Amino acid sequence: MKLIDSHTHLNFPDFKDNYQKIIADCLKKGIGVVNIGADFESSKRAVEIANEYPDQPVYASIGMHPESINENFEAEKFQNLINNKVVAVGEIGLEYYFDNNHDIIEKQKELFKQQLNFAIENNLPVILHARGSKDNSHGAYLDIVDGINQLQIVGVAHCFGANEKIAQKFLDLGFYLGFTGIITFKNKSLESLREVVKYCPLDRILIETDAPWLTPEPHRGEQNLPQYVELVAQKVAELKSLTLEQVCQKTTKNWQQLFKKWHDI
Ligand SMILES: [Zn+2]
Repeated sequence: MKLIDSHTHLNFPDFKDNYQKIIADCLKKGIGVVNIGADFESSKRAVEIANEYPDQPVYASIGMHPESINENFEAEKFQNLINNKVVAVGEIGLEYYFDNNHDIIEKQKELFKQQLNFAIENNLPVILHARGSKDNSHGAYLDIVDGINQLQIVGVAHCFGANEKIAQKFLDLGFYLGFTGIITFKNKSLESLREVVKYCPLDRILIETDAPWLTPEPHRGEQNLPQYVELVAQKVAELKSLTLEQVCQKTTKNWQQLFKKWHDI
């Protein structure tokens, strides 16, 4: 395996007609994929897809996204999904962007806590989602740090979008930072995020697409694909003055290290 898209959603309806074609193309290029669940149905689907490729680097993560608070977390149902293809619990976390009233925040925190416990019980790393409120009045990252602070847990802060100080808090807790195609966007306002990429040690970086969203340049505006993870790796290489090959090798090794208890690939 040359590269792995550590966070993608081929399990979502967007890809229902072409996920096999996409995976075949990824595997031909040496790209592994981890499909990430956002509720029970999409988690189940991620596992079904992974099961279609027993000997290939196609994996699943199961969990409920904070916007799925309308459903309860039924641990037993998720427990039944776990097999050797399930590498993590996620994406789980806090999402205050669209709605940040007190009740919603409390509900999200409860769902998050339940799933952190589930991950610990199953000795699985977590894939964290965080987004603060539009007006910056509620910071999701620091609430997440509070949630994981005292726990024996590792994982990745997916699609990392906060500053260096917060990045350091995750690094201190042993977490990895996941970067997406956002780092390739031309917006000037993203310079500070590119600084975080430079700041984060290469041995703590995972790369990802979050397809079908966040399509990297030069494909911005089209549907995202896991194959484009190479464009994210390319940008990391550029920002850190490394070769593409160095970034591919190291981030793949990082992924294997984080999930090594489960997989030799
Ligand atoms: Zn995602």
